[in-house]
Amino acid sequence: MSQYPPKDFDRDLTCRALVVDVIPESPADDAGFTPGCYVTAVDGTPIRDIIDWRWLTSDDVITVSYIDTDGDVGEVELEREWGEDWGFEFEGLVFDSVKQCRNACTFCFMHQLPKGMRPSLSLRDDDFRLSFLVGTFVTLTNITPDDEARIIEQHISPLRVSLQVINEDVRRRMIGKHAAHGIEVLDRLLAAGIEFHAQIVLVPDANDGEVLKETLDWAYERPGILNVGIVPLGYTCHQSRFGHSFNLSEARGGGETAGNHYTSYTRITRYLHECDTFQEPYNTVQNKGGTT
Ligand code: SF4
Repeated sequence: MSQYPPKDFDRDLTCRALVVDVIPESPADDAGFTPGCYVTAVDGTPIRDIIDWRWLTSDDVITVSYIDTDGDVGEVELEREWGEDWGFEFEGLVFDSVKQCRNACTFCFMHQLPKGMRPSLSLRDDDFRLSFLVGTFVTLTNITPDDEARIIEQHISPLRVSLQVINEDVRRRMIGKHAAHGIEVLDRLLAAGIEFHAQIVLVPDANDGEVLKETLDWAYERPGILNVGIVPLGYTCHQSRFGHSFNLSEARGGGETAGNHYTSYTRITRYLHECDTFQEPYNTVQNKGGTT
């Protein structure tokens, strides 16, 4: 059996999709692909993730660049019948690396974990591709001009955005110095027709009350924001910044702010959602050790 990964494997190659399975008698199988090979490009364009793969393989004839299990690189032309699966199954959804966040949110749960947890629990992903593919929330504060152009070109929509707050000063205090960039990107993507499901983490005395109203007004003026979910701050005993979140009566106060104040909105019933931690019996969000 061939060495895996190949001994000459180019670890600097940023885009490589590991083949973990091949459908028998598919174009991939016919071309000799086996688990352990890497696909690196289609028609000369590197594939960064499964979105690129699907985007670039819609034709029925493609040229695939690969690294085989001996570490040899090459290209092969594949052809398929109309509608036929190419026959590749890849490991994971992103083939370069997961984009990580560059924020410093005051309420970040990653800073509230006990020591010694497995590293994957503290991966601070902020990747618009995963937002589209599996529904994670992103802040858009790490979006580059290339990312932005790509989201628009490939119409990667809808995305899920952690909106938190629109007020500039509060936003900077809660999220950090890149907070404004996220809103600028959000507005440009909305103008380009990208749609969003938004989430607000409601932190007592930070983005609630009038600040929340301002945020909801801002969001509601933008039809591309399809709905807004509100979740209360969650905190653990492994931190010292927070000593309380919303109890049930405060949550109902929050509900008035978030709900009753906006009953005149015609799309309120499908627009604004409070999470079940605002409801009985989940009347406390304090968590002594796990996640909310
Ligand atoms: S965006 Fe998420 S992971 Fe990043 S600092 Fe804020 S809460 Fe933490």
